[in-house]
Amino acid sequence: LQRNSGETEFHQAVHEVLESLGPVIVKYPEVADRKIIQLLCEPERQIVFRVPWQDDQGRTQINRAFRVEFNSALGPYKGGMRFHPSVYLGIIKFLGFEQILKNALTGMPIGGGKGGSDFDPKGRSDAEMMRFCQSLMTELYRYLGEHTDVPAGDIGVGQREIGYLFGQYKRITNRYESGVLTGKGLDWGGSRARTEATGFGTVFFTEEMLKVRGDSLEGKTCVVSGSGNVAIYAMQKATSLGAKVVACSDSNGIIHDKQGIDVDLVKRIKEIDRARISVYADEKPSASYQANGNIWEIPCHVALPCATQNELNGRDAKALVGNGCIAVAEGANMPSTPEAVRLFLEAGVAFGPGKAANAGGVATSALEMQQNASRDSWSFEHTEQRLHQIMVGIHQTCHDTAEEFGCPGNYVTGANIAGFLKVSRAMLAMGVV
Ligand code: NDP
Repeated sequence: LQRNSGETEFHQAVHEVLESLGPVIVKYPEVADRKIIQLLCEPERQIVFRVPWQDDQGRTQINRAFRVEFNSALGPYKGGMRFHPSVYLGIIKFLGFEQILKNALTGMPIGGGKGGSDFDPKGRSDAEMMRFCQSLMTELYRYLGEHTDVPAGDIGVGQREIGYLFGQYKRITNRYESGVLTGKGLDWGGSRARTEATGFGTVFFTEEMLKVRGDSLEGKTCVVSGSGNVAIYAMQKATSLGAKVVACSDSNGIIHDKQGIDVDLVKRIKEIDRARISVYADEKPSASYQANGNIWEIPCHVALPCATQNELNGRDAKALVGNGCIAVAEGANMPSTPEAVRLFLEAGVAFGPGKAANAGGVATSALEMQQNASRDSWSFEHTEQRLHQIMVGIHQTCHDTAEEFGCPGNYVTGANIAGFLKVSRAMLAMGVV
């Protein structure tokens, strides 16, 4: 704790994993002898740098940016960039730490990393976004490479930002190195189904958890927090599998539409107009908007938190359980507080932790890297099918590992142990490095 003082979210993420690892140390004492856990908690490299840029009024603006290259035992560092004013080292380290185990669970050859900046994209013009991204890449490029470190998007970073970052990387290095960033546009090296992958994958994982209980999403009422990339495609896939999504949100308020959320309308508002979700209620008479409302008080069978960390606390978990919620899958990273997770597990709710349930995004990023390496471009159907297989595989791994280590049905323990075993085996094989 002292070594990483003030990094609250990082402590939370590490604590949750360490709680699961007791039985692993008993079974594999060499993990303790070789200090694998201590090594895993110490990033291989951390880069912190200044990003100076000019706004549209010609004023100088200064932001701070981070790239934490956490662990490369399984492959090049892989993980998104987040642009949000709340970003500081503790957030990037929690995300990077989770990313190591998540990437291991995908079964793809990718290590773990994460980055971002305290830059706030809200209200910024296209030109400002471009200047900011170019300035950031002018420093970051020297640490990247398709065999070294491969960033992607996260909160506040979508295809537009990846475009500006990729353009600047190409210009500075004089290399068309498609595999250096993922989340690219289809015309310039992107993969079909990458935009949809995290949300789709979260719903595939939910469907697998329900299948184990002899159930499915058909006819279920769903609530999805957020209205960004992950939330939109989680709503789309849940709807296509027969569920009715009745609510979504942004950081200002919630939309409740008893007739079922019109996903195309949300897409237009968020992806094209870049407007607030409150606009939805202006256009749909069946919907109501509640500023600062609590989305978890809306009764549902399935809850998919897809916005941000610690957005669902113990009180929210009690409300969900009390209203008959049977499954929760985390589209976002660490959206449920430790108390909420405990309450879900105690109540027998099928609970899919983020590092398993939202791994479809990074898995499809690895598929994008495969296509870049072979100069190929796969169809949507083929890519979605691979994503589906990967999510079924991750579910199976977490499910079987939880059983093997004596806590059947506990996907938190299953995901932590399975991810940890894969990384630690590689670390043990490579010696003290
Ligand atoms: P976006 O920026 O596209 O969307 C984020 C959404 O969450 C927005 O609707 C945003 O609202 C909302 N939000 C943010 N903070 C809050 C808050 N405090 N309360 C309520 N709503 C909030 O990001 P993504 O969809 O890409 O990411 C969402 C989550 O999914 C993050 O935890 C991310 O790490 C995780 N994730 C993303 C992956 C990806 O492929 N994109 C892969 C795996 C995980 P507003 O516009 O008001 O800020």
